[in-house]
Amino acid sequence: MALVPDVIQRASSGRAKCRGCSQPIAKGELRFGESLSNAYAEGEALYWFHLYCASAMRSEKFLPALEQSSESIGERDELRKTAELGVLHPRLQRLLKAERAPSGRAHCRCCRELIEKGEWRLSLQLFEETRFSPIGSIHLGCSEAYFGTAQILERIQRLTTGLGDDDVQSLVQGLLVQRPAPPEADEASDAPGSEGDAPGLAKTRGEEADPGARAGGKSG
Ligand SMILES: [Zn+2]
Ligand SMILES: [Zn+2]
Repeated sequence: MALVPDVIQRASSGRAKCRGCSQPIAKGELRFGESLSNAYAEGEALYWFHLYCASAMRSEKFLPALEQSSESIGERDELRKTAELGVLHPRLQRLLKAERAPSGRAHCRCCRELIEKGEWRLSLQLFEETRFSPIGSIHLGCSEAYFGTAQILERIQRLTTGLGDDDVQSLVQGLLVQRPAPPEADEASDAPGSEGDAPGLAKTRGEEADPGARAGGKSG
């Protein structure tokens, strides 16, 4: 059976969307095609990525294709550096973008604490077989703990569309303050439904359910 190799080539149309960021890939733009088993038929199919998205999100597969490509790639060094960092810190390949938390109800995947409404969070996704699935988000300040590095400003800027100068400044500040290991909860919350204490939990120890306790059986 013929194996389709990974490839870097120009987009022949503007119809394909990037597997990484879900945005269209412009006609004529260089793109990365990852060869994966076809979800709909036998054999392999190529799944397309923007070059930068591929370097950031599919680093191990992208690096050899980049080295083998004879295309004139403007930011070849930048792409190589991005991919090498992804190989070094594999969880970085899960980073989709930065965004302001739309609610205060989601927990950080790293420290498990709530991410406040309006606070920056880093959205994560996981590549399985042929596609990415969302797996939650982390505090900006949990980057070091989760990824193994907080030197990710450039990556965030490249992957997140629509960031203004103010956003970048606040991202810079946020990345400077890395969170320590999760502290003990020391503040009482008045949120309804919080279940803190469960006194007297150990009182039924040692008792076993009697399998013959059902009524109705008469022995003669
Ligand atoms: Zn993309
Ligand atoms: Zn966190």
